[in-house]
Amino acid sequence: MAAVTAHRTETLPCDILIVGAGIAGPAMACALRDRGYSIVQVEFSDRPLDTARGDHLQCVVVELLEQWGALQAFWAAGGEKRHGAQYFTDKNELLLDVPYAGLPIPHPYYLYLHHELISQTFLKLAAENSRYTLFRPARARDFDIGPEGIRSLTLKLPEDQTAPDGFVPGQSVVIKPRMVVGADGRGSRVREVLGFETSTHDYENPLVVLFGPRPELDPLNRVTTFMSANGTISRIPRAFGEWKIGLPIHKSDIAFWKTATPKMRKSAIVARAPQLENIDAEVGGFYPVKLLNTNKWVHGNTVLVGDACHAMHPARGQGMNVSIRCVSKLVNLLPDVGEMADSDIVTRRLRAYESGVKPAIDKVLADNHVRGEEMDSLDADLIARSAAAMRVINADPELLRRYRLQSAGYADALGAPSPV
Ligand SMILES: Cc1cc2nc3c(=O)[nH]c(=O)nc-3n(C[C@H](O)[C@H](O)[C@H](O)COP(=O)(O)OP(=O)(O)OC[C@H]3O[C@@H](n4cnc5c(N)ncnc54)[C@H](O)[C@@H]3O)c2cc1C
Repeated sequence: MAAVTAHRTETLPCDILIVGAGIAGPAMACALRDRGYSIVQVEFSDRPLDTARGDHLQCVVVELLEQWGALQAFWAAGGEKRHGAQYFTDKNELLLDVPYAGLPIPHPYYLYLHHELISQTFLKLAAENSRYTLFRPARARDFDIGPEGIRSLTLKLPEDQTAPDGFVPGQSVVIKPRMVVGADGRGSRVREVLGFETSTHDYENPLVVLFGPRPELDPLNRVTTFMSANGTISRIPRAFGEWKIGLPIHKSDIAFWKTATPKMRKSAIVARAPQLENIDAEVGGFYPVKLLNTNKWVHGNTVLVGDACHAMHPARGQGMNVSIRCVSKLVNLLPDVGEMADSDIVTRRLRAYESGVKPAIDKVLADNHVRGEEMDSLDADLIARSAAAMRVINADPELLRRYRLQSAGYADALGAPSPV
């Protein structure tokens, strides 16, 4: 990038502007790092992302990481393997056992790593592209928009932060992209300025997430979910020897969880799962849960990805995984770098992506909503019905095989990855 004089406005043309560096944006920059595009990424937050969000990458996503030459970097960052999931009643009856071993897939395990390290690992790989620039922290706000999409984004770099090489704090930069990816999450500014219609559903009960040390190591590192008349609760392995505990609670109980002593927390956990009596866990955060779907993804040269266009309930551990899988489909459809100057080709490819993938995502969201409503419920009858449905799956080898494949990220509406 050209050297600039302090406080002058610079114009920065690029092939692809990515707004947001949570998960979907970094995954996109990583997947494209050796395809020759000039890429500019803008992220407003200067701190690591919230660690309590998704940290388990599905088997199908591990396959994608391998296709992108990224898998080794995830092991080097501390990634660990999870070999299954199990569901129990609070009386220790096994309802459903979901092992991945034996499935006809290349990587029959989940890879788990702290959420912020997943993002950072993608970003580190993205920076291998000599034509990549990350503005962080910088908020994308001032877009110039026309019928052809986003013409430019004017950024004001913060005075008190370091700027990327070739830029200086406090200056303005006018980014002129050939294509724009809105990967700016649930509150997307890109979605807002494009005026897409958005339907949402607020789940009644927030989730509370707790962290604690993991002394008793399960060699298979399984997620275990316990279902009782008092609600469900999940014990999720975290990298570096921790558990994450997640449970839906009544809004009115937030105050309890904020002020509870370790003893009070433990007895609330044990009320749902006596099996967790040895867990010592501190509250990590509270999460209101929302479903969000947009009527479209593409306007001219601009496309939305990730939570910006499809946020879902964490019940199935899908949001981050689906975002990465969508990114993989999008990157496979992009024009080559030599074609990027042709805005008609760019728009046609983005529309092909939208018409090919959005119907599958609408279905994923509908299925996820059913599971989300179940997890959201603190109603004993509904929980008992979910438990009964699990027994049925567990007792039928064909249903169970399908469930295992779906949980691995195969055999759902999005299907298996396409070859690169
Ligand atoms: C409690 C909880 C548990 C979850 N568990 C799972 C799970 O087990 N498995 C799973 O797959 N998913 C899970 N998810 C969902 C997952 O976290 C999200 O689906 C995923 O992070 C979406 O990634 P994203 O990149 O689209 O959005 P985000 O991660 O939200 O990233 C958006 C980024 O854009 C930036 N940004 C926003 N506006 C601007 C702007 N104007 N300018 C510049 N930057 C901007 C933000 O700072 C942010 O970094 C969970 C979520 C929660 C809340």
